[in-house]
Amino acid sequence: RSGDALERLSRVELVAFDKTGTLTERRAAVTHVMVADGYRRDDVMAVAAALEADSEHPLALAIRAAAASSPRRGRPVAESTRDVPGLGVEALVGGVPARVGRPGPLPPLLDEPVTAYQERGETVVVVERGEVVIGAIAIATPLRPEARGSIARLHESGLRTAILSGDNRRAVAAVGAALGIDDIEAELNPEEKLESVRARSQRARLLMVGDGVNDAPALAAADVGCAIGSGSETALTSSDIALLGSDLYGVPAAIGVARATYAVIVQNFAWAVGYNIAALPLAAAGFIDPLVAAFAMGLSSLVVVANSLRLARLGRDGLAAVRPSRLGLGRKRAVLSVVLPVVLFAALTVLSELVSPARGQTLLPELPHISTVSLGGGGNAQVYLDPDAPGLNELHLFFYPSHARTTITAVQVDARPQGSGSPEALRHLRVAFNHYVNYVLLSRGAWLFTVNARIDGRAMSFSVHRTIT
Ligand code: ADP
Ligand code: MG
Repeated sequence: RSGDALERLSRVELVAFDKTGTLTERRAAVTHVMVADGYRRDDVMAVAAALEADSEHPLALAIRAAAASSPRRGRPVAESTRDVPGLGVEALVGGVPARVGRPGPLPPLLDEPVTAYQERGETVVVVERGEVVIGAIAIATPLRPEARGSIARLHESGLRTAILSGDNRRAVAAVGAALGIDDIEAELNPEEKLESVRARSQRARLLMVGDGVNDAPALAAADVGCAIGSGSETALTSSDIALLGSDLYGVPAAIGVARATYAVIVQNFAWAVGYNIAALPLAAAGFIDPLVAAFAMGLSSLVVVANSLRLARLGRDGLAAVRPSRLGLGRKRAVLSVVLPVVLFAALTVLSELVSPARGQTLLPELPHISTVSLGGGGNAQVYLDPDAPGLNELHLFFYPSHARTTITAVQVDARPQGSGSPEALRHLRVAFNHYVNYVLLSRGAWLFTVNARIDGRAMSFSVHRTIT
């Protein structure tokens, strides 16, 4: 019902189940009615049915169904009915206090048969009238057919399981043994269930699965509460996880979805951070061409989306097909998660070098190479070509004479390609008394620049070589 619940669900360690209505079907059936000395079966069933007239508990439905076959005439009616959650129902039947519910001390005659039914995993409720036990009803609550398989699935996924039930210890133990559940706790009323959930969640991250009948507070107190679809309306709307059906494979499937979702979040995060940490320095150092980088950025987003879309496949083949992955990476995956990005980035860098239009060039600017020529009499001249690439170039010429009063006149610069002879005159701009900028269009190849000038009336000349790449 929320992303937060999904995240908590992914880290659950222990799954506790309610028994009646959750591990067992809501449909229950009376298998046997035991009567105390001096009472009749019809009496016992009539009192029980009167008490259960308004209850929606699976045991109540079974008792009403069984009583419906006995004669209607003279059936007693219950007044001031009181539901005691997790224990049973109390009322006045024919003006006498009566009760149906969890057995207390039993008369000797009933003790043995009740124990026998409980050991078979059936639920036995007693019927009392005027503080006297008049009989007991054994009710078979069939286990959901997929209960065993889904418990086994939880164990395979590294989870522990428990039953928290209000039913008798023997009956709960029988169910626990049939399903292979790790730990059982029985004869809990709703408050005790709540306490047990609180105590257990101190020790392990707990998922409580219930139907909301007598276990709504426990569902709310667990780290994650899961209501099954056949349960009460309030449980479905107030729990963290609501299963739409009552298929118990929904429990491991929900954990499977939660773990897979969490894994995808972590993978995507690790990829996005790792990608940028690796790619930014490579790009800044000039190892990745901007075109390849732009392509890789788009590809990186696609990797994240494609990885997330894997989740859409979950559950396509039914709930039973969703297996919770084990938490943490296996050895193979851990190695792969390091090797794969390294290979990817190596490939990206090599690809960059292969397809880049700027291959072999550095994207960082280079300092121009400055030539210094002595003028005689202590001063010197400096020349550099900026930017030293084909196209429009600027040749900078500086004079640093030894005296401040030195006059510089008749400055002239020409450029000629080496080998063929004809010189090209340069456009020339005096920026300061000693700084000249000469503009020239240059093609690739070796060039010779010749400078002529008069320093204090004396003619002088020098040349520098440059290769345009
Ligand atoms: P569970 O915890 O296994 O789901 P409940 O908490 O619903 O079981 O009920 C626990 C016990 O309380 C039952 O085993 C039964 O003895 C008694 N009980 C609860 N509700 C009823 C009822 N309506 N009629 C008879 N007995 C009841
Ligand atoms: Mg229940």
